[in-house]
Amino acid sequence: MGRIIAVANQKGGVGKTTTTVNLAAALAYNDKKVLLIDSDAQGNATSGLGIPKAEVAYDIYDVLVNEVPIRDAIVASSRENLSVVPATIQLAGAEVELTSLPRREARLKAALQPLIQDYDYIFVDCPPSLGHLTINAFTAADSVLIPVQSEYYALEGLSQLLNTIQLVQKHFNSTLKIEGVLMTMYDARTNLSNEVVEEVRKYFGDKVYQTLIPRNVRLSEAPSYGQSIIDYDIRSRGAEVYLELAKEVLANGQS
Ligand code: ADP
Ligand code: MG
Repeated sequence: MGRIIAVANQKGGVGKTTTTVNLAAALAYNDKKVLLIDSDAQGNATSGLGIPKAEVAYDIYDVLVNEVPIRDAIVASSRENLSVVPATIQLAGAEVELTSLPRREARLKAALQPLIQDYDYIFVDCPPSLGHLTINAFTAADSVLIPVQSEYYALEGLSQLLNTIQLVQKHFNSTLKIEGVLMTMYDARTNLSNEVVEEVRKYFGDKVYQTLIPRNVRLSEAPSYGQSIIDYDIRSRGAEVYLELAKEVLANGQS
């Protein structure tokens, strides 16, 4: 049975998409069968994995709103073992349209049901909000992976995110867990980064991954080549840390 992991934080620019794409690719590199659901209208995970949006036949909007079978929306990525359900700009309308649809919080869950057997991991790259798309991801998921930027206001906003997780646990998905908390854009040379990690560890304990993701220019370059860091530059520090993270995620699944 595949594990469904939502990658979420309502703050923008904290490394959700970078983490979803590169962790998914690192697991695929480890011979896992991985599906990435792009649930952000920006479609950065889609283009970052080399899928031209102009050529997308069906996207996640069609699946959630028009009930197109999800298999019709799955496309291959630039990495073997990693497939994508793309997002295009039409997803921007989903937040409003979902409001008036039946079972609006469980539409992704229903769509994914027939696929769970086919994949080892299904990742959902969430948008920077706690609206219907994120609620759908939490309702469908086994767990939530939370990227946190190693900056001064890191913990700010996380209580809102945790409240939303608790609400979903109470009403829609009682077994939803926190997969892990990932410190991103970490700078070992600054006291600030180290203080922030310490602060987050105080709060989340061993839920915080040992792997810390540093700023790495190769990570920011890779998407413009339509490649994950594994394919763009496997010798980079960025590839090294996401492969380390993949090992931690694999180990978590065994316990
Ligand atoms: P989110 O999905 O949370 O909005 P992104 O993953 O898109 O965040 O990251 C925001 C920006 O920061 C992007 O331009 C991305 O390339 C860059 N970025 C993310 N993580 C790193 C990193 N570890 N090192 C360097 N640049 C990064
Ligand atoms: Mg993103």
